[in-house]
Amino acid sequence: MCLNLCIKNTKKSMRILTFDIEEWFHLLDHPATRSEKEWVNYEIRIHENMEIIFQILDEYKISASFFVVGWIAEKYPEIVRTINERGYQIGSHTHTHQLAHQQDRTTFYQDVEKSVKTLEDCIGKKVELFRAPGFSISEDNKWAFEVLHELGITTDSSVFPIDHAHGGLLGYPSTKPSLLKYNGIILKEFPINSLNILGRRMVFSGGGYFRLLPYQLIKRATLKSDYIMGYFHPRDFDFNQPLIQDLSALRKFKSYVGLKSCRPKLEKWLNDFDFMDIDAATKRINWSEQKVSVLD
Ligand SMILES: [Zn+2]
Repeated sequence: MCLNLCIKNTKKSMRILTFDIEEWFHLLDHPATRSEKEWVNYEIRIHENMEIIFQILDEYKISASFFVVGWIAEKYPEIVRTINERGYQIGSHTHTHQLAHQQDRTTFYQDVEKSVKTLEDCIGKKVELFRAPGFSISEDNKWAFEVLHELGITTDSSVFPIDHAHGGLLGYPSTKPSLLKYNGIILKEFPINSLNILGRRMVFSGGGYFRLLPYQLIKRATLKSDYIMGYFHPRDFDFNQPLIQDLSALRKFKSYVGLKSCRPKLEKWLNDFDFMDIDAATKRINWSEQKVSVLD
């Protein structure tokens, strides 16, 4: 809960804070950062960057949900244990951080299964929460929701409502948390929020979008929204991270813009608005009265 006169979450508004826990070099869909074979060549910066996140959460006395890459949990189980000991909720962000729509069903199953097992071994409790790398569940791989259900995931936050570099599920029928129904299975879905700004549907609550946009615009958009899904990564706060070479100019811009201002901007946001984790939000929603979003 934020300390001073911030705008509190009410019955009508729900602002959620999440972090996707991966390294600075876990950039998707690029040959220099594709797999573990490449990752071992890079400097490890996750510990310092996690400290920044913990400091921010301590400062504002708020909780958050953490989607952790299984590879991180395998290499640095102490990070996952610390997240758990601090009482924060843990979900899977797959094991190998690949685009789900570039995997076949079996590969995706095994990737998520390995991450869930690794995380559960670290914390000794069930993992039921998931987010796909790059929000990469789109029209072509909606079977991913069935796989998640088969693996005991009950709650997902992979739906990205607009077209972006790694997919997006544009036809998704709800802009707020709802029960996602697909081929007979049901998941609780917490999509990324969006808002019409100057006639265009825009995302503003995380990653490169949050880093790029001026704070006053983010604040105004937050005031207009009754549901916010904030999403950040350790690398968003690391303005000394090395540059991955050979990125296109656009990719370079998207990956590195606003790194220096991200922490102060997030702190302003947390100072102005109250946030909660997905667990608290799940408990607040009366799911039996909630709209069902049917995908076909
Ligand atoms: Zn990710």
